[in-house]
Amino acid sequence: QVTVPPDAPLETLQQVMTDTGWGQVPVVENGEIIGIVTRTDLLKILAPKQAASGQMNLADKLEASLPPARLALLQIVAEAAQRQQAALYVVGGFVRDLLLERPSLDYDLVVEGDAIALGRALVQQYGGRTTTHRRFGTAKWQIGSIRSKLAEQLSPIGGPPLDESNFPETLDLVSARREFYTHPTALPTVERGSIKLDLHRRDFTINTLAMRLDGHYYGDLHDHWGGLADLQAGLVRVLHSLSFVDDPTRILRAVRFEQRFGYQIEPRTLELLENALSLLDRVSGDRIRHELNHMLQESAWEAMFARMSDLGVFEAIHPALPWDQAAKERMRTGLNARIPPLWAGRPAHQLEHPVQPAAVYLSWLIVLDAGEAVSAANRLRLPGWMSDQIQSAIAIRSMQDEIARMSPSQVVAKFDSQPTLSLVVCDALSNDPNFKQQVKAYFERWQSIQPGTSGYDLRARDIPPGPHYKRVLDALRAAWLDGKISTTEEETALLEDLLDELPADE
Ligand code: ATP
Repeated sequence: QVTVPPDAPLETLQQVMTDTGWGQVPVVENGEIIGIVTRTDLLKILAPKQAASGQMNLADKLEASLPPARLALLQIVAEAAQRQQAALYVVGGFVRDLLLERPSLDYDLVVEGDAIALGRALVQQYGGRTTTHRRFGTAKWQIGSIRSKLAEQLSPIGGPPLDESNFPETLDLVSARREFYTHPTALPTVERGSIKLDLHRRDFTINTLAMRLDGHYYGDLHDHWGGLADLQAGLVRVLHSLSFVDDPTRILRAVRFEQRFGYQIEPRTLELLENALSLLDRVSGDRIRHELNHMLQESAWEAMFARMSDLGVFEAIHPALPWDQAAKERMRTGLNARIPPLWAGRPAHQLEHPVQPAAVYLSWLIVLDAGEAVSAANRLRLPGWMSDQIQSAIAIRSMQDEIARMSPSQVVAKFDSQPTLSLVVCDALSNDPNFKQQVKAYFERWQSIQPGTSGYDLRARDIPPGPHYKRVLDALRAAWLDGKISTTEEETALLEDLLDELPADE
């Protein structure tokens, strides 16, 4: 164990931590530990009072917002970057949220240098492994398997141990994009591969804020594109006039951020957004659905959908996508849809698919006619099973009144072939107590009522197999369901009658 004397110069301390990778060094006087210097102490002393870029320093906010394990992880990456003389930044949503006092856990790291080399150095020092993409200059450091070792190594001496469950499974390291990868003929500029250019590729100014982490610059806010002012003014602003043309999904993202934070899309950005609506045609259903799913997970999803409808975004995605008060209420119901435990175990319909987001899409599209629904589902590239469930839900909803009056055996004949979720959604959306009663009785009683007689019994009677097996067994089941028989004897008697009625060639 390396120790330092009380009068060790800061440079020595820094050197010791850098060389050993330890986050704390005991201070020893006359053979006794009189204190411990931690990495954070050192960074705080070294960090200039005024941020190097002349702007804000967020070190305190950072430390207050992250669990110690996540913070320690950032700090060892920062040290490794410093050893490579590469600037390391945490960028984007994390910094935005830190400033908005809505701290999030997930940070994106960008290094002005070689992220792959950085990943390699971390593996060498701490273990784990990296997966890399040479073309993009990215490395994913897999630390799931070394969490407990990391926790041990980075826990403060004499302090509470780090909670290893706070370490993520992986950590992404990204090299600031170097322009010469994409424009081989461009003249080299001092800013190529710089954080500033990297940030310029992002969607909105509020997402371009970066906080530097290495060495003296620990905690410095870098605001190259006016993000801070927009964050303070509550504006969602693109970085350049072709932003929505480059990527029309940003239209949906703009609405998402605007409504999430109660911001405004800045007027010029709004104009660009409206001009780009027709380009949504080019965006794949997968990307659109991905954005919609993101919105549906937010508490402000209704405001987001309303705003999209007002702006003509739904119209541009697919003209049949509905939005009105009724759609809102249906989707709310869909979002809260659960499968009651008693309904889950249908023998022939193991529930293979998650309830969400399927129940929301079902609730959303259930008012369309079947053709429109298929077309809208195709546009959103909903998986085939979801599309089938939408078809089923539309069909059931359209015959609700009829179903409400059916006999138990008729209900069973109708429902047995329908997927569970479409029945659950139709039930949740219905106000008709008779229909709801039928669905409940079906799930809780009727679906599991079967006659005592089986196909084996018919074989044992030397009846040659064929489609009449099903007819006979269905008739027995229907008789039980409708209360026409209620004992084994009555079933046997009915079976004899049914067999007598079979045509001779069956
Ligand atoms: P959230 O809080 O919803 O996670 P986020 O800002 O972290 O929001 P992500 O969708 O996780 O957003 O994206 C991470 C970062 O990547 C964003 O901050 C943004 O800068 C950038 N980004 C994501 N999608 C795009 C895009 N379509 N165009 C440009 N930049 C994007």
